[in-house]
Amino acid sequence: MNATLDNPQSIHPKSFPERRAVERLLAPIDQIAEASSHLWSKSLGQFESSGQTYSLPRYIFLGPKGGGDPIRIGIFATIHGDEPEGALGLFRLLTLLEKEPALAKGYALLLYPVCNPTGFEDNTRQSRSGKDLNREFWKESPQPEVKFLETEIWTHAFHGIIALHSDDTSDGLYGFVNGAVLSENLLEPALRTAEAFLPRNLRQEIDGFPARKGIVNHGYNGVLTAVPGLKPPPFEITLETPQKAPLHLQVEAFAAALQTILVEYRYLMAIAQNI
Ligand SMILES: [Zn+2]
Repeated sequence: MNATLDNPQSIHPKSFPERRAVERLLAPIDQIAEASSHLWSKSLGQFESSGQTYSLPRYIFLGPKGGGDPIRIGIFATIHGDEPEGALGLFRLLTLLEKEPALAKGYALLLYPVCNPTGFEDNTRQSRSGKDLNREFWKESPQPEVKFLETEIWTHAFHGIIALHSDDTSDGLYGFVNGAVLSENLLEPALRTAEAFLPRNLRQEIDGFPARKGIVNHGYNGVLTAVPGLKPPPFEITLETPQKAPLHLQVEAFAAALQTILVEYRYLMAIAQNI
């Protein structure tokens, strides 16, 4: 019997398998979105690579109304294509929020789980163009993913920007802070909650930067950030999990840290409004 007739895909074993990888990753969350009254799936942008069309997945979760205008938070994952842990962490968060929407009370969350879809499909840090997209921001990069994300960051003028990464050279959790002074006041409790699942990286130097209790105040040029010079600056946090740790613990650590940031920031905003 001719196997290719029973399984037409085997004629062209390399014809769309990668594309389906992104769709497979998103399928469970798309299913939740279809039935949800809080969650919407709205992909953005379109670009071509290797003869295929790509877009950037985007999910919007609207929590129950809070006191004032919704607090807009952008959360970005898998800008390094070989770090799907962040995307899975976001899906875990969405599953929790869907069960208990009050966790996101007062928030409009914009979630970008796969910022580098070609790198995700190829399991590479870089996009298929060979670029580390997380070194291309705010320098007039022609990379389509970066242009779409920059437009999103411009348009939504987020109160907070969170990036999720997974570091195979770290043996513990850590994070970068930038922007508003309170960033550090959000990262510290976030790391503390996440420590229920994984240890913190307590080294005095992480990634070549001085670090204190897993918090780094420096960063690389060209990383995904708010619009430079924006007033008032949003809080900016990058969360890093140790990539060699068990996947489910990284996923839980991300979800726990993100929930803590939502709780703490809402609290800080409420205090600020009452002053
Ligand atoms: Zn990364």
